Amino acid sequence: AEDANYLVPLIGTIPDVPKKGILFRDFIPVLNDARGLRILLDALIASLPVPADEFDSIAGLEARGFLFGPALAARLGKGFIAVRKAGKLPTATIGEEYQLEYGTAKVEIEVGAVSEGERVLIVDDLIATGGSAKAAADLIVKAGGTVAGFSFVMGLDGLNGTDKLGEAPTSILVTMP
Ligand code: IMP
Repeated sequence: AEDANYLVPLIGTIPDVPKKGILFRDFIPVLNDARGLRILLDALIASLPVPADEFDSIAGLEARGFLFGPALAARLGKGFIAVRKAGKLPTATIGEEYQLEYGTAKVEIEVGAVSEGERVLIVDDLIATGGSAKAAADLIVKAGGTVAGFSFVMGLDGLNGTDKLGEAPTSILVTMP
């Protein structure tokens, strides 16, 4: 059967990236593979955490959420919201700071990117601690939207990152050890 199992062997594992002792999970080879890319989008749609008529748009996190979020949005007839790292957008922005292991980071969207009451599905390639997805969610709410759910390609076993995400339903295609 053509399902998410096709994707697993395509996911790369790079030891000691970005630092010693970390295994970096790389889904870019899935995108390189025509069948992999199609199955990725099919599987994300088949496993949406909420029905497609219960959200209005998809927000993706820079940078890897930009690699499939717009394709997924286009498949579903939705718009796409780019959640960027701070300092890159040319317009007035709404921002949200969050804690990293060392220091802080900030994400931004353009003013006007989210309408009042807009229901947003948040996507990214991978959830680890959940800090980035939580910051994106807080940003959507600050901008007047609501978070309909979260969809990730990969999750890391044992980190319980979804605990940070509150009530919103979440789907993870592939859990990596
Ligand atoms: P979190 O904020 O701790 O959940 O980390 C998730 C963020 O870091 C996402 O934006 C991911 O793209 C990125 N990330 C962390 N670890 C990996 C990895 O192994 N592969 C790809 N992205 C990762």
